[in-house]
Amino acid sequence: MFFIKRYTEDLLNLLFPELCNGCAQLLYRGEKEVCTKCLYDLPYTDFHLYPDNLVAKQLWGRLPLNAAMAMLYFKKGTNVQNMIHSLKYNHKCGMGTVFGKLLAKRLKKSEFYNDLDLIIPVPLHLKKLKLRGYNQSEYIASGLSEELAVPISTKNLLRRQATESQTKKARYTRYENMKDVFTVKDKTEVLDKHILLVDDVITTGATLEACGSTLLKNGVKKLSIAAVAFAE
Ligand SMILES: [Zn+2]
Repeated sequence: MFFIKRYTEDLLNLLFPELCNGCAQLLYRGEKEVCTKCLYDLPYTDFHLYPDNLVAKQLWGRLPLNAAMAMLYFKKGTNVQNMIHSLKYNHKCGMGTVFGKLLAKRLKKSEFYNDLDLIIPVPLHLKKLKLRGYNQSEYIASGLSEELAVPISTKNLLRRQATESQTKKARYTRYENMKDVFTVKDKTEVLDKHILLVDDVITTGATLEACGSTLLKNGVKKLSIAAVAFAE
């Protein structure tokens, strides 16, 4: 059976070669979504080890957090950008799971994330979800959930309306624009829990601020944040 499976895999690979989501080179057997070289070269921040890291500092005074981190530095024109792009726009959902598992390995080494009760991915608005077909943060969260053995909740925190394009807005306006966008459907699921809020890339932090404050208003005991990447 093993040989048949391997033969089928080889044949499929020949017909539909799998490419690395970072550098677009052919993947070897055993490599998943990303080649070994790209994995090795990932620009890790090590933010999970430092409570006063750049992501936490960005959110200081905006949200009372237990901890906040992003795993990688995000820069334009890099393989990290290619990987995130594949995940968000090219239906490479497996990339999200790979990111989630890498993220989990780091969180396991941090004392700030060792008592998590529930993982919640930042939700997409229903319209956007239908258009894209999936929420990329859900895949990151599911990789995390599997590796950390912490349950995931995807249907409780909801996004009410699509926001206008935020690229040209100042940080304050962005938050003002977003603050009433999120709602919690079932309060009992989050009440008195330590929640890990999961996002793909942190830029201004406005979305996380709006999501996080909604969760805290609904009785969350402790709130932590983890993202795949941080755009300075
Ligand atoms: Zn690669």
